[in-house]
Amino acid sequence: MIEPLLFELSSPGRVGCRLPDLDVPESPLPEGLIRRELCLPELSEREVVQHFTRLSQINFGIDTGFYPLGSCTMKYNPRLHEDVARLAGFTQIHPSQNESTVQGALQLMFELQRYLAEITGLPGVSLQPVAGAHGELTGMLIIRAYHLERGDEGRSIVLVPDSAHGTNPATAVMCGYTVSSVPSDRRGNIDVRELEKLADERVAGLMLTNPNTLGLFEEDVLRVSEIVHESGGLIYCDGANMNALLGVATPAELGADVLHLNLHKTFSTPHGGGGPGGGATAVTRDLIPFLPVPRVARRETGEAGKEDTEYYLDYEWPVSIGPVAGFYGNFGVMVKAYAYLRSLGAQGLREVSENAVLNANYILHQLRDYYQLSYDRTCLHECVFSGNTQASLGVHTLDIAKRLIDLGFHPPTVYFPLTVDEALMIEPTETESVETLDAFIAAMRQIAWEAETDPELVRSAPHSTPVMRLDEVTAARKLDLRWQR
Ligand SMILES: *Cc1c(COP(=O)(O)O)cnc(C)c1O
Repeated sequence: MIEPLLFELSSPGRVGCRLPDLDVPESPLPEGLIRRELCLPELSEREVVQHFTRLSQINFGIDTGFYPLGSCTMKYNPRLHEDVARLAGFTQIHPSQNESTVQGALQLMFELQRYLAEITGLPGVSLQPVAGAHGELTGMLIIRAYHLERGDEGRSIVLVPDSAHGTNPATAVMCGYTVSSVPSDRRGNIDVRELEKLADERVAGLMLTNPNTLGLFEEDVLRVSEIVHESGGLIYCDGANMNALLGVATPAELGADVLHLNLHKTFSTPHGGGGPGGGATAVTRDLIPFLPVPRVARRETGEAGKEDTEYYLDYEWPVSIGPVAGFYGNFGVMVKAYAYLRSLGAQGLREVSENAVLNANYILHQLRDYYQLSYDRTCLHECVFSGNTQASLGVHTLDIAKRLIDLGFHPPTVYFPLTVDEALMIEPTETESVETLDAFIAAMRQIAWEAETDPELVRSAPHSTPVMRLDEVTAARKLDLRWQR
């Protein structure tokens, strides 16, 4: 049990820092600049350190426990990559510096583009977008530019499966499209018959997530991309969570024309803190001319016998959609992604996927007798249960999530995807040990048992936190960080 927060710690006259002696002639401040009442808490250094350390411990973080937030890939990111990103050679440079003085940084970006091209099977990569949704926007602007460049102006609809992440339809609308929803079939796949009816000459493209947001592989993906391509549309693939496919399959061979990656989910930048992020966007050869500028490029210089390689920023792409962020995006995130790829190597990346998928299936099988499965299939990197059985006992998914906090776990994603009643979406990720998974499974089984024997205990959870149930929407929309009333 955490002690209730002692918030008012100030004591008049107490100080936590000592200012140096005055070493310039004393002269009065202009009257208008003098602040007579500072209204700052008065504390010793020790009290300040204790206060903030205590606050940080009340917060649940990936470094202190299991964080199985489905569709978010909250995994452990090695500290090594943070150290690498902090090297002075990376942090003490400026984007306006002459290219000849930042060749190493440009080389890193160039090579990262190539690695991501290999991982996705898509040869053109821009590292510029700074978030997943920003990568989506970039990709959909590219699709729009492609159609317009060909004089194909009648395409106004973007198809989005009903299980899609909310950013997908939002992106399509921001690009000026009308969204048409494609239903899922009884196995949790895109309903191909319905898609056939919807795909026509008005469709600019389909936004696809594979594995989809039910954690399931789209079994008819090749037919889906064929249908869309035959209608003249393109396939946008949401690759925010790539840790089921790395080293196993490329989105390109599954039909993708454009895809974004979340470097801050899959590639070693912590995710969930509000940034900085990286939404690298990859495209087929045909779409390369539309990618944002500048691009990081390489050219050979020097004469025969004295050849050299030079990296530079390339702006010479007349039909580019233009820049989508300042300079070339969040460089520190790229350094971490590069370090991650280099330290794991091709084999290590494949093992990431194998372990992510194995962990999710382990949980699925250990909990399937306790929670309802909407789609009874082998999953990929995440599994989705429905809390319907518990709901019939008066215990809802939100209650289960809150009770997990008492038992030491961050709740999984709840009530998403929208197509599953009382959804509980669990993504263990590849970085968790079997002991952690077993402890989580035991907690979930305990809650299922409590729902039957003592539902009020679950309904009134959490019992162990300084604050109980919050109005989460208001807390997020009207964030109040002031310590005073
Ligand atoms: C996280 C996520 C996004 C959005 O990424 P942001 O960086 O939060 O904008 C898009 N699609 C899917 C499937 C995601 O999981």
